[in-house]
Amino acid sequence: MSTVISPVTEEVVATVPAASAEETDEALARAQAAFTTWRAVAPGDRARLLRRFATLVDEHIEELAQLEVSNSGHTIGNARWEAGNVRDVLAYYSAAPERLSGQQIPVSGGVAATFHEPLGVVGVIVPWNFPMPIAGWGFAPALAAGNTVVLKPAELTPLTAVRLAELGLDAGLPEGVFTVLPGKGSVVGERFVTHPAVRKICFTGSTEVGRRIMAGCAEQVKRLTLELGGKSANIVFADADLEKAAAAAPTGVFDNAGQDCCARSRLLVQRPVYDRFLGLLEQAVAAFRVTDPADESAEMGPLISAAQRTSVASYVDDAEVAFRGTAPDGKGFWYPPTVLLATSSEERHWREEIFGPVVSVLPFDDEDEAVRLANDTEYGLSGSIWTRDLGRALRVSRGVETGNLSVNSNSSVRYSTPFGGVKQSGLGRELGPDAAAAFTDVKTVFFSSE
Ligand code: NDP
Repeated sequence: MSTVISPVTEEVVATVPAASAEETDEALARAQAAFTTWRAVAPGDRARLLRRFATLVDEHIEELAQLEVSNSGHTIGNARWEAGNVRDVLAYYSAAPERLSGQQIPVSGGVAATFHEPLGVVGVIVPWNFPMPIAGWGFAPALAAGNTVVLKPAELTPLTAVRLAELGLDAGLPEGVFTVLPGKGSVVGERFVTHPAVRKICFTGSTEVGRRIMAGCAEQVKRLTLELGGKSANIVFADADLEKAAAAAPTGVFDNAGQDCCARSRLLVQRPVYDRFLGLLEQAVAAFRVTDPADESAEMGPLISAAQRTSVASYVDDAEVAFRGTAPDGKGFWYPPTVLLATSSEERHWREEIFGPVVSVLPFDDEDEAVRLANDTEYGLSGSIWTRDLGRALRVSRGVETGNLSVNSNSSVRYSTPFGGVKQSGLGRELGPDAAAAFTDVKTVFFSSE
């Protein structure tokens, strides 16, 4: 059993059974058996079941959102968006089964046809920072392509995933097609990697664990997608709409209390507007509302755990604090939004993923320096460029080594566009029109006309 603690009250909200290695093997055997029937379900019927699943999620948005508020401390506004994202992703990929067509290629002596064959059992390993969306980005396209799915939620945040699996069953998914298995990463997650029936792993989490999973998958040449850490740059040029850039910067890094792999945690500001921008940012940070996440006006809740708070604080202790926002006192893993001044790009808070509401600011002189500083990191997941100069936006977008960029915006994720990282931020892409095909292997069949 593992206990689920509210990050707001620090009290136990639920206890959830933790699967053993034997129970994991049993679940994998059921998923393997279910694959035979699921892959044979006609594409139109699979599509209908996924649409029904999306409808049921839609009817339970409020319940799922409230569950996430009490389990993860997400603001109610964010939690509703997250549940809605699962619905939208299911609806989007419900169109995939009938569109996974291959090619017909004329060749000498006959014709060749290609087929997208589902892989088998797919293992999805989910972190605690976005329990619902990250689960959906894995399970929806995998199911659409005809695979069965076993999903391990993070030990800290299993509740919404468990509920989503129930809704899947209610929607009519056959037993064993979509299984949620709460438990330890070192037990359940490891078993997904080592069990030969699991043909692909979708992992989101730390770069360290991702590396280990990649090595494990290599043993069986197992397919995998990795969505790992980030240290994204938010580059503000002197010609930008500074008011807009400063107003957007807090959400760009403090959303979800900064526990976001896309957090714009390195703020690069062109020197002539550095002081003015910091003045505007200070006002925006002071106005950023950190309160009980169940409150409709909350913009940020607490961190996920006491351990995460200790880890975040360790980056601030020896750094120069420019200014901070506010956070409630008393119970709860609260940490105030914090703006640090970087004196060089070598400082620990500038280089490492903090995963908390902390942003480091550094001035730069010209476009080349901005790109060089933005790229001086092992990560490459997200980022933003603020400028009114279209040519510069284009040049810098092409120059910054990252998987996802926004110009004059800090948004990162849309279910209809590919999402993923470069360098040590990950491998492969989730979401977008090609994600269901990424859960298949292409088979080529030659038909002789002789
Ligand atoms: P982890 O990478 O440890 O955990 C992510 C998921 O992987 C969890 O479900 C975890 O299970 C599981 N897991 C852990 N070890 C293994 C293993 N050996 N084999 C298979 N699965 C495993 O992240 P943490 O929760 O420890 O967070 C640490 C840091 O990682 C954060 O502070 C942040 O910097 C980064 N991170 C980045 C995320 C992102 O979105 N890119 C998401 C989460 C974290 P369990 O629940 O048992 O830990």
